[in-house]
Amino acid sequence: MRLSKYFVPTLKEVPSDATVPSHILMVRAGMVRMLSAGIYSFLPLGYKVVKKVCEIIREEMDAIGGQEFHLPALNPREIWEETGRVEAFGDILFHIKNRDYVLAPTHEEIMTFHARNVVKSYKDMPQIWYQIQTKFRNEPRPRSGVIRGRQFLMKDSYSFDTSWEALDKSYELHDKAYRKIFDKCGLKYFVVGASSGAMGGTGSEEFMVKSSAGEDTVAYCESCGYAANVEVATSKPFIRERDTESKSLYEIHTPNVKSIDELCAFLNIEEEVCAKSRVYISNGEAVLILMQGNDEVNETKLEKVLGGSVRPAHPDELKEITGADAGSIGPIGFKGKIVADFRLQDRNNLFSGANKNDYHIGGIDLKRDVPQVQYADLRIVQSGEGCPKCDKLLEVFPAIELGHIFKLGTKYSESMKAFFLDESGKEKPIIMGSYGIGVERVIACFIEQNHDTKGIVWNKTLAPFYVHLISINPKNEKVAQTCEKVYDELRQNGIEVLYDDRDASPGFKFNDADLLGMPVQVVIGEKKLKEEKAEVKIRKTDERFDVDLKELINKVK
Ligand code: ATP
Ligand code: MG
Ligand code: MG
Ligand code: MG
Repeated sequence: MRLSKYFVPTLKEVPSDATVPSHILMVRAGMVRMLSAGIYSFLPLGYKVVKKVCEIIREEMDAIGGQEFHLPALNPREIWEETGRVEAFGDILFHIKNRDYVLAPTHEEIMTFHARNVVKSYKDMPQIWYQIQTKFRNEPRPRSGVIRGRQFLMKDSYSFDTSWEALDKSYELHDKAYRKIFDKCGLKYFVVGASSGAMGGTGSEEFMVKSSAGEDTVAYCESCGYAANVEVATSKPFIRERDTESKSLYEIHTPNVKSIDELCAFLNIEEEVCAKSRVYISNGEAVLILMQGNDEVNETKLEKVLGGSVRPAHPDELKEITGADAGSIGPIGFKGKIVADFRLQDRNNLFSGANKNDYHIGGIDLKRDVPQVQYADLRIVQSGEGCPKCDKLLEVFPAIELGHIFKLGTKYSESMKAFFLDESGKEKPIIMGSYGIGVERVIACFIEQNHDTKGIVWNKTLAPFYVHLISINPKNEKVAQTCEKVYDELRQNGIEVLYDDRDASPGFKFNDADLLGMPVQVVIGEKKLKEEKAEVKIRKTDERFDVDLKELINKVK
């Protein structure tokens, strides 16, 4: 491809709305342009990479027996009502105003629609159906370029099996295929246990890339490899001094407490104390106040202890924080993790001094002393806590979700009545799985991991072109002729070449070549031509060497 004819609008400046490296570089390298918030057009250079990623995905999906579909993005709303997901997706779902249609954010319903009445016998399974297709989600805060789009490409696949054991196999196949796909792309990733969210189902894992641009948070143990999305991460109970000066404030982490009973048992207190607990919001954190008798929370005192303003949690917040309905004793069990700060006189007496019958915790008589200063933060797992598996310290950091595999089970087949007859002629719901990869995220994550101050650093697999051929002074006839010859020869040898034949200064061309990031740069200029040589530069290492023109093809292959 000749750069003089190719539409690659590179930019010198950092676009004002971009902060994340992949976003900045994809815009600067002329790969994408924003149409509207969260909606991006792929320009020719960017789309070339999209096609490469899709081909890698296709190879591995076909290798596990996947069959490629192409489903409509425009879906009748009534199909989505069968599974209750119009409500479950809420504002994320795009609705068509003048018709009863929605724009599909994923395709469980539509694949189940096709399976129902067709996949009728145990003999018709297993099946793996996939597609690479545009999804629509009304993301509330689209940012970081194509990492979070309102319209994006997803490879989504769906498995249909007769038993849970067979589902395990389909899931396993996907797990292996995903590793191959991301390995081939050259991504550094790791796999974490995850929550199934709006998809429902019994088990799920996410493929994650560590990145400050990520909106997920992951807990990771370097020592034993335990890794989980903090949505589901746990840590071991422990106590940590919080206020070292007065030695009167401690954090009690009780991550595995999931019920009132368990909390009472852990703290060795009466249920009545918990039952009168209230949740306050302070500095953006939820704080559990343990109460007893007819005491009211002394907000002034609480503000002093917490070092900031406090207000009672709104019922909606309460539900959000605790997963419990307002009015119930919800505070217990923030997704299985509770962090508690107790103001105590004696850490050693924390449990030994507690007495179920007279409301003592750590030497404080809850009946007599100020109950208001007993409080607990409800917070998620943090760096430095105890790994639930090996007791070593956990690291917590932001990450980008590249892919997600779910064991759906029978959620969709039951609600949509996709049944089959088993070997004994008994009717059963199909056991399903669903599996997604964000195509744009693969590209953005690769750039997040492979760039320097000058631009992108592609590998051979994803690079839009392998060689960037630069002609220094194309007006010189010998240079122009040699470039044309090299350009032809490289292409005849199956090498993809981007040929900068533009009438521009060498510095301008070098900068563009580094920005676009093809793995190998071949520079042809008058000086080296005198010795029948070209200069080759390896983008990744910045290594430069002269090569005889006759040897060029073999050297760069
Ligand atoms: P996130 O947690 O980042 O919002 P998700 O869990 O909602 O993602 P899934 O429903 O699991 O996403 O979809 C499968 C894959 O689709 C994700 O792993 C991700 O790679 C990709 N994806 C999801 N939402 C977006 C988006 N808004 N823009 C680009 N890719 C996305
Ligand atoms: Mg999402
Ligand atoms: Mg997610
Ligand atoms: Mg997900």
